[in-house]
Amino acid sequence: MTSRMVAGTRIDLAEGDITRQDTDAIVNAANTTLLGGGGVDGAIHRAGGPSIVEECRRLGGCATGDAKLTGAGRLPARHVIHAVGPVYRDGRHGEAELLASAYRRSLEVAMTHGLRSVAFPSISTGAYRFPIAEAAAIALGTVAAVAAERQGALELVRFVLFSAADFAVYAQALAALPG
Ligand code: ADP
Repeated sequence: MTSRMVAGTRIDLAEGDITRQDTDAIVNAANTTLLGGGGVDGAIHRAGGPSIVEECRRLGGCATGDAKLTGAGRLPARHVIHAVGPVYRDGRHGEAELLASAYRRSLEVAMTHGLRSVAFPSISTGAYRFPIAEAAAIALGTVAAVAAERQGALELVRFVLFSAADFAVYAQALAALPG
């Protein structure tokens, strides 16, 4: 685990399973249907139980770069924020902007609901094949920008990385953040 304070928000990096986090919200790397998938999405629905997908069904999907909130079923977190990152093609299809938007919208949804601690997985870097070094810089840069804009609104943003290799990439990106 490593941490850094940015504009009054603690940014944590941890290696582990996001379904075990007891933050106010955990973020799901969802797809546009919001009806479940593999990877972290499958893990969240399995651990949280059927109430999450029941709520998702009523949301009518989610655009790429956007995020929507549900309850968290049996998970220790209070809410799940379902964010949709881009499928990476060649980097020339707005992938960077869409990934930044997925992080930004997730934090906006959290703050709108008065949530102060949020855990993220590494959105888009699994099945969606976004190169992880670039994705980590975008993820951390976006969190730092929102923290600076909204001083004190977010207490904790934690990235929960699923492997030691992914953790190392995020640790390097966190150290490289300006300030
Ligand atoms: P995407 O389709 O957005 O790429 P994936 O779920 O395929 O989403 O992968 C996103 C990241 O989540 C990958 O780094 C994957 O290893 C990781 N991951 C998978 N399961 C978990 C979990 N239980 N907790 C945290 N991260 C996970």
